[in-house]
Amino acid sequence: MEYKVAPSYENYRIVSVDEDAKKAVIECQCDRCGGSGMYIIPRAFQGTCFACGGAGVIRKRVKAYTPDEYEKYLATQTRAKERKAEKRAAEIAKLQEESEANLRVALEEAGYETEHPQIWLVIGENTYAIKDTLKGLGCKYKPEFGWYCTHTVDVPADYNIVPVPFDEVCDWNPVTKRISVKENAKEVADAAKAKAMPKSNSEFIGEVKQRLRDLHVMLTGCRTIETYYGISLVYTFKMGDNVLTWFCSGKGIDPDIEVGDVVLLTGTVKEHKEYNGVKQTYLNRCIVKREG
Ligand SMILES: [Zn+2]
Repeated sequence: MEYKVAPSYENYRIVSVDEDAKKAVIECQCDRCGGSGMYIIPRAFQGTCFACGGAGVIRKRVKAYTPDEYEKYLATQTRAKERKAEKRAAEIAKLQEESEANLRVALEEAGYETEHPQIWLVIGENTYAIKDTLKGLGCKYKPEFGWYCTHTVDVPADYNIVPVPFDEVCDWNPVTKRISVKENAKEVADAAKAKAMPKSNSEFIGEVKQRLRDLHVMLTGCRTIETYYGISLVYTFKMGDNVLTWFCSGKGIDPDIEVGDVVLLTGTVKEHKEYNGVKQTYLNRCIVKREG
């Protein structure tokens, strides 16, 4: 009778079979010492291999199968593996289903549309200026998105909202059941905003450090911002399509000058920088005078 042993012993050869006990003695070359019986680390250690006790071979006494028994054994093993895989697949499907249900709850709680959740980004020249209105509308702020809402809102005139699919900027963690912002969310959000913003024809003016004198410009904006050093005034001007910006830490311009007025602007170019897709010339040490 030819006997076989379990497939996990395929590297072993059968030395002898005890037919009464249905046991086989099997052996193979010791992996650790390569059959030498010695274990050597060059220039460091040399001694008897303790994996094989110096024999150079590993010997085992294992169950022996007749060909019929072996076939049955293999069939049983295969069935067990299949059952295990089925069970695992069912577990994964259940977790998936739970995770989707949990995500729907989380989305609903945050005010998202649950079938096709989108993040609505607020765009406009100066969203900071309308932040209180936005807060009142239920909008929130995140550095990655700027002002945004989980559903559509009616933003003030001159402002707009642009959608970004939730999946593109957010991740859902099924274990912690939390929504997190993707690492590249800012790039995705900025690209969506830039695409929706009307294209600006603004160009940079002058050279850095150059003193520009008596430019005929229109005052287009005046707002206050909070900085580390306190409240600062930010004036924006337009000369044709070109945008000029002045961060003024002093007391500001003549309060009689209003947005829409044409004035004479003198200032030194501090830097040229693109902001919200608009090329802006930043000035300092400005003097603003009425014309004439
Ligand atoms: Zn050995």
